[in-house]
Amino acid sequence: MSKSSAWIAIENQYYAQTVRRQPVVIVQGQGSRVWDADGKEYLDFVGGWAVNMLGHCHPVITQALTEQAATLLQTSNQFYTIPQLLLAQLLVEHSCLDRVFFGNSGAEANEGAIKLARKYGKKHRDGAYEIITAFHSFHGRTMTTLAATGQPHYQEAFLPLSPGFVHVAYNDVAALEHATTDNTVAVMLEPIQGEGGVNIPDDDYLQRVRAWCDQRKILLILDEIQTGMGRLGSLFGYQEYGIEPDVMTLAKGLGCGVPIGAFLSKEFCMALEPGDHGSTFGGNALTTAVAHAGSKYLIDHNIPAHAKRMGQHLLARLQELKARFSFIVDVRGKGLLTAMEFDSDISHQVLAHANEAGVLLNGVKPNALRFMPPLTITAEEIDEGTGRLEQALKRI
Ligand code: PLP
Repeated sequence: MSKSSAWIAIENQYYAQTVRRQPVVIVQGQGSRVWDADGKEYLDFVGGWAVNMLGHCHPVITQALTEQAATLLQTSNQFYTIPQLLLAQLLVEHSCLDRVFFGNSGAEANEGAIKLARKYGKKHRDGAYEIITAFHSFHGRTMTTLAATGQPHYQEAFLPLSPGFVHVAYNDVAALEHATTDNTVAVMLEPIQGEGGVNIPDDDYLQRVRAWCDQRKILLILDEIQTGMGRLGSLFGYQEYGIEPDVMTLAKGLGCGVPIGAFLSKEFCMALEPGDHGSTFGGNALTTAVAHAGSKYLIDHNIPAHAKRMGQHLLARLQELKARFSFIVDVRGKGLLTAMEFDSDISHQVLAHANEAGVLLNGVKPNALRFMPPLTITAEEIDEGTGRLEQALKRI
């Protein structure tokens, strides 16, 4: 029995079976590569689910983590800590938003944004509370963010969910207008739907949504948990579309591997007041110190621009594969959020062969793969990774 199989047997016996895992036990990472328990090396195009923006064990992250671990981990939000304030300042100064609150995950960030919108509705919109979100969206797994998520198959086992959400087709402004009532307080959208299959809207979609929200005094909440922190080629996805949200949520890449989430808001709609919201661990010294170091590095070294160039390179390589394999029906992406779609449900098979060939990928749909590698990936690593994917595709 391989070392990996022995670990997988332990998982089968002791772990809640909630995730369909690939049979790879990762024990070490460096840059864009990881190694499994048997010493096999892989190129990592999953990146911790779009988290490891600077790759694995980047020295800036390791240094911030170890220095902060030796200084201060956790106080409570009853007191001020400096890393939290530095990160708040950095994010506000580099975005169009004015205030930030830190939590521990994406779902928590969205929960906070939803609470903010509800309170805003109570204070400024005669109690309006409904939030419009899109089908195929993904906003998290808590009962309220599941209600926001427009994918019934995630919801059905857990009904009833939090009320007050209306779903409309993505990339369809008329549907949004039609669903708007006096009760609508906010629209919540991903600039590109990630988990829903890398669905890229028309170039003018967000601008038209913005105009509608302005007209009807509705808050525009952008869930940038997957698209933010450089993934699409700008620090924030909204910058790619020439609009400003009223509220934005971040997580994933914000911490470059440590668990942190955030919601940011413009001053006019920051309706939350002392006592309205809080978190024991949210924004603690350890996670904010690492997130600050990672975010500052991303900004100072213009990593989003590198991600844009590498995204174009990756897309070109995937287009070459599409030309070679007739069962690939589409490749699409922006920055380093990219997908390859097949004419049938073969993701599972492709992933198994890809693992053998030494490249880690995500099966975002039964018929589609998602690529979300570290933003620091090089052109050579992309060539090598897509070369390994080609080996896998040849076996289909
Ligand atoms: N929002 C988006 C757009 C996401 O992609 C995800 C996770 O995939 C979430 C929210 C939930 O984040 P978390 O898993 O950290 O709760």
